[in-house]
Amino acid sequence: MACPASPAHYQYNPIKTVKTNVMGSLNMLGLAKRTKARILQASTSEVYGDPEVHPQGEGYRGNVNTIGVRSCYDEDKRVAETLFFDYHRQHGVEIKIARIFNTYGPRMSLNDGRVVSNFIVQALKGEDITIYGLGRQTRSFCFADDLIDGLMKLMESPADFTGPVNIGNPNEFTIMELARKVIALTSSRSKIVFKPLPQDDPARRRPDISLAEKALGWKPSTHLDEGLKKTIEYFEAIL
Ligand code: UDP
Repeated sequence: MACPASPAHYQYNPIKTVKTNVMGSLNMLGLAKRTKARILQASTSEVYGDPEVHPQGEGYRGNVNTIGVRSCYDEDKRVAETLFFDYHRQHGVEIKIARIFNTYGPRMSLNDGRVVSNFIVQALKGEDITIYGLGRQTRSFCFADDLIDGLMKLMESPADFTGPVNIGNPNEFTIMELARKVIALTSSRSKIVFKPLPQDDPARRRPDISLAEKALGWKPSTHLDEGLKKTIEYFEAIL
């Protein structure tokens, strides 16, 4: 699954990242080839980098900094897409590539540094809400159940449909809007504080999901407010 890309994760362990995304893909592609299995790559919107095209369609080739702090994750995912296509062309492996955009929901990790979990945990604990930069950057948050529905439809699609296909929610919010929503939904007294913006933090991100709609008959149905309520309930229960 998509690995979180947040300041907590900016000191990527390159060996671990390459092992997971590149060696892991090679091993699994070899297995899929031998067993004639259909194989899914959980790729990522990170392949678009800090996008110069908005919203991002699958035809956009991205704007990734090859030597930046988050590059080993982004580039590894791009290499993995390449390997999937090579195995498809050279060995006829049936591949499916989903480019997953920011996803959230119950059972997400408490402390992996992602924005939704950070804000909810901070709000519930009455701690400061940490916005990186000015909070004008945007993200489009997809509820986990919607993502799973999209991935299942992708796996059930005809063999000649390989993707890559964007799976995400096209409703776009600024990080400031997200912070305000979380504060309102938790009735928290937390204050908003501003921290430095990490290097290469994408300024905006929104999937163009017309391919998923057309090829898979899929689009997300959970509004951010509804998904946040369910996620807040989960964190309330475990904190
Ligand atoms: N972010 C933030 N405060 C936090 C965690 C993240 O303002 O406590 C910002 C981060 O800089 C980015 C956005 O929220 O602009 C989404 O970050 P996340 O790590 O969840 O995902 P990604 O950057 O991979 O989209």
